[in-house]
Amino acid sequence: MSFGRRPSLSNDLISEDPNAPHVPRLTRRLTGFLPQEIKAIETTIPAQSREIWNKHKVQKFNTADEFQERFISHVEWTLARSLYNCDDLAAYQATSQSVRDNLVIDWNKTQQRQTARDPKRVYYLSLEFLMGRALDNALINMRTDTDVRDVGDTDETLTKGNTSREMIKNAMNELGFKLEDILDEEPDAALGNGGLGRLAACFVDSMATGNYPAWGYGLRYQYGIFAQKIINGYQVETPDYWLNFTNPWEIERAEIQVPINFYGYVDRGQNEKSTLEPSDWIGGERVLAVPYDMPIPGFKTSTVNNLRLWSAKPTTEFDFKKFNNGDYKNSVEEQQRAESITAVLYPNDNFLQGKELRLKQQYFWCAASLHDIVRRFKKGKRAWSEFPDAIAIQINDTHPTLAIVELQRILVDLEKLDWHEAWKIVTSTFAFTNHTVMQEALEKWPISLLGRLLPRHLEIIYDINWFFLQDVEKKFPHDMDLLSRVSVIEESSQERQVRMAYLAIIGSHKVNGVAELHSDLIKTTIFKDFVKIYGSNKFTNVTNGITPRRWLKQANPKLAQLISETINDPEDNYLLDMSKLTQLSKYAEDEKFQKKWNDVKQFNKQRLADLIKKLNNGVDIIERDHIRNTLFDIQVKRIHEYKRQQMNIFGVIHRYLTMKELLQSGASIEEVVKKYPRKVSIFGGKSAPGYYMAKLIIKLINSVADVVNNDKEIQDLLKVYFIPDYNVSKAEIITPASDLSEHISTAGTEASGTSNMKFVMNGGLIIGTVDGANVEITREIGEDNIFLFGNLAENVDELRYKHQFHNEGVPASLAKVLDAMQNGAFSPQNHSEFMPLIDSIKSHGDYYLVSDDFEAYISTQELVDQVYHKDKKEWLKKSILSVANIGFFSSDRCIEEYADTIWNAEPVKPE
Ligand SMILES: *Cc1c(COP(=O)(O)O)cnc(C)c1O
Repeated sequence: MSFGRRPSLSNDLISEDPNAPHVPRLTRRLTGFLPQEIKAIETTIPAQSREIWNKHKVQKFNTADEFQERFISHVEWTLARSLYNCDDLAAYQATSQSVRDNLVIDWNKTQQRQTARDPKRVYYLSLEFLMGRALDNALINMRTDTDVRDVGDTDETLTKGNTSREMIKNAMNELGFKLEDILDEEPDAALGNGGLGRLAACFVDSMATGNYPAWGYGLRYQYGIFAQKIINGYQVETPDYWLNFTNPWEIERAEIQVPINFYGYVDRGQNEKSTLEPSDWIGGERVLAVPYDMPIPGFKTSTVNNLRLWSAKPTTEFDFKKFNNGDYKNSVEEQQRAESITAVLYPNDNFLQGKELRLKQQYFWCAASLHDIVRRFKKGKRAWSEFPDAIAIQINDTHPTLAIVELQRILVDLEKLDWHEAWKIVTSTFAFTNHTVMQEALEKWPISLLGRLLPRHLEIIYDINWFFLQDVEKKFPHDMDLLSRVSVIEESSQERQVRMAYLAIIGSHKVNGVAELHSDLIKTTIFKDFVKIYGSNKFTNVTNGITPRRWLKQANPKLAQLISETINDPEDNYLLDMSKLTQLSKYAEDEKFQKKWNDVKQFNKQRLADLIKKLNNGVDIIERDHIRNTLFDIQVKRIHEYKRQQMNIFGVIHRYLTMKELLQSGASIEEVVKKYPRKVSIFGGKSAPGYYMAKLIIKLINSVADVVNNDKEIQDLLKVYFIPDYNVSKAEIITPASDLSEHISTAGTEASGTSNMKFVMNGGLIIGTVDGANVEITREIGEDNIFLFGNLAENVDELRYKHQFHNEGVPASLAKVLDAMQNGAFSPQNHSEFMPLIDSIKSHGDYYLVSDDFEAYISTQELVDQVYHKDKKEWLKKSILSVANIGFFSSDRCIEEYADTIWNAEPVKPE
C-alpha cells in the first residue's frame, strides 16, 4: 500500500514544520488533524484501505482477561521475554505498556477533539515536573470502556470506585504477581527539586481532570535530582540515571526535530537598520530539540492530556572543515556537547547559580516549546492579533522568561509584525507565577553572558526595557530613582545584569503569588514599584493546591476507603468535589468513627515504620508495640536554613537534654514520660550539593540521632531518624503516617508550602509558623486544629535590625542547646564541627530568627505532647475536622481559578 500520494499535511502531534531542515519524511496517522484536513486525506485513501483499518481498529482492554492477553503480548513481543523469565521488572514494564495502550487511545481522541473544537489552549511552562511514579496513578485515573458504560447507567448503582485498579490487581495475582511489588519497580520521574516541580505535576493532573485543553512543556533531563545517600551522617550525592531501563511512559517523537540556535551575531544589514525592525540572527551553534510525550490521564474522564519534554541531540550537519583536517574526534566531541544541554537538572532549590549551561537549558526549552505552540497556531490560519484568544501561556517562576522574548522575536523578525503590535500580543498571552521573595533566588543574568549566548534576544530585552521606561517616565516624570529601580537592567552591581522577574512582570498581563500572605508581600516589597506603575489589578493570588488523587487516594488507600464508606460515596466523587469532605465533621466526636480513624493512622504509621526498618539495615527504630503511643513528628522537605530544620533539631536536643537533667536530678522514668511522652522525630530532604550550611544541618540531625538513639538511659522515649533520599514515592508513604508535621519557616520566607496541605489531607496536625499557606489552612480548618507559634512576617525586618545592632544574646533554653553542641555532645571527635550553625545565630545576626522563635517553639511542642497523650479524643477530633475542611487545597480549585481569572480558558468535555 502506498501512502505517497497523500497530501503533505502537518499533524498536530507528530509532524514538523515542513520548511525545517533535516526533517525525515513522516509516517502519518489520523490524529490531530483539522476536520477539513481529515476529509481531504480521506478522499485520497482507497476505500479498501479504510475498511481494513476500521476492521483492525485498536481497542482498549476492558476485562481482566483482555488485560492478561495484552500483558502477555507485551512480555513476549515488546520485551522479547517469556513465561519463564518474566520477573517483577518485566511485569512492571509489560503492565505499564498495556495500561499505556489504553491511555494512548484516549490521548489520541482527546487531541483530535481539541483540534476539532479549537478552544483556547493553555500551555504550562515549567523547568521542573516532579512527577514521581506513573503506573499507580494511571490505574487510579484510567477509564476502561466498561467504566464509561457504567457512568451512562444513571440510576443503577455504580460499581465501587477504582474498578480498573482492582481488576488489574486481581489479574496480576492470577498471573502470579503482586501489584504492590510491581508498582515498586518503577523509578520516580524526579525531574524537579521540591515544591515548585511537584506543583507543576499536581497542576497537569488537575488540568486533565478538569478537561482543560492544556499541555505541559518541560525538559527531559537524563539525570533527575540526585539520589541522596547518607554516609557517616553526611549527604553524598549519586547520579539519578532514571532512564536506565526503557521508560514505558514516554513516547519519543523522533520525527520532530526543532533546530535551536545559540551564539552567533545579528546582521544589521548594509544600512544598519533599527533593532525594532526584522533582524537576522545568524546562529553560531545549532542543536536539535526532540520531544518526548507523556500521557497525563484525568480522573473520571477520558481526557488524556500531554506533557511534552524536550531532549537535546546533535544536528546531522557535519563540520567538514574539521573532518577534512583529520580532526574527526573533535567534531564528534562537539556533537556530544549538544546532548549535555538536557543531561542534568540543576539541584538548587530557591537559589540561583548563574551557570551558562542553565541559561542554555532555559533558552533551548523556551524556543522549542514556542516553536511548537506557534506552529500549532499557524495551522488555524487565524490573524496574529487573535493569538491571545487562542493561547494562554503560564510561566512557572522566572525560569521560562526567555519565552516572552522569543515570542517577540518570532513575531518581529520572522513574522514581520510591527514591534508594538507584536508586544501587545506577547503581553496578552503570558502570565507569570512568582514563587519567592528571597533575594538569593531571584534570577539575574549578566549582560555579557546573555548577549554572547543570545545576541538578538539581548537587543530585544533592551528595546522592551526602553519602551517600558518611557511609559514610566510619562506617568512619573523626572523620577530617576524610580526608573533605575524598575529598569530590567540592573546597573548598580559590578556587572550589569538582566532582572528576569522584572522582565516577566513587564511581559505578562497577570502576576500571581502562591498564597495570600505571599501575594500581599510581593506587592509591598519586591514588586512594590510595579504596583505603583501598573495598579494593583495586575497582581493577584492563586493559593497553591495538591491533587487529592495522588495525595489521598493513592498515598492513603485506607483513609480514602474509610472516607468513601462514611460519606456514602462509593464512586469516590469526593475526589472531584472536596467540599463533600465536610460531611465528615458530624463524626468528629463519634467514638466508633474515631477508632476507625485511629486504626487507619496506626496502619500508616506501621507502614512507615516498616520502610524505616528497611532503610535502617533491618533494624527497628521504633518498637512495634510502641508505635501506637509514639507521636510521629515529621519534617520532610528540601533542607534550607529558611525552612529551619535547625530549629527542629535544636528542639530535639533541648528535649533530650532536659530529659537527661530530670533523670539526673532523681526523677523516675514515669515522671519523665509525663513531661516528655514517647516521640520519634523524623526528618528527610535533600540539600543542594553546594549548600554548606544545609549539609551541616543534615550531619547534625544524624549525629544527634546517633547519640539519642543509643542512649539506654532514656529508654526509647525519644528517637530520631533521617530518611535518606526523600522523593515523591517516599512522600506517599511518609505523609499518611504523621501525627504531627512541621512547617516552621521564618515568617515571610515560605511562599506557600504544599506538604503542609498533603499532611493535613492525611489527618496529620501541623505545628507551624504564620507563613505561606499555613495562614489559609488555619482559616479553613479552624485555629483550634493547628499549632501556630512565632513572630509574624510584619515584624521580621525589625527583628533582623535588632540582631544587627544589639547583641541581646540567646534565650536560656537555646543557650543550653548551643553549649552542649559547642562542648562536643554530638561531635566528640571534633568539638567545633557544628560551630558554623552556632555562629550563624550568635555572631552573624541570626538571619532566620531562630533565637526569636525558639522558646515559643519549645512551649508549643510541649502543648502538642499534652494534647496528643492526655486527650486522644480531642486530638482525633482535630484530625477529623482538619480533613473535613481541607477541600479548598485541591489543585482542581487552583486550576479553575487560573482558568477563570488568568487564562480565560474553558474545558473541552468528552461527549
Ligand atoms: C510536596 C513535596 C515537596 C514540597 O514540600 P514543602 O514542605 O512544601 O516544601 C517537596 N518534595 C517532595 C518530594 C514533595 O512531594
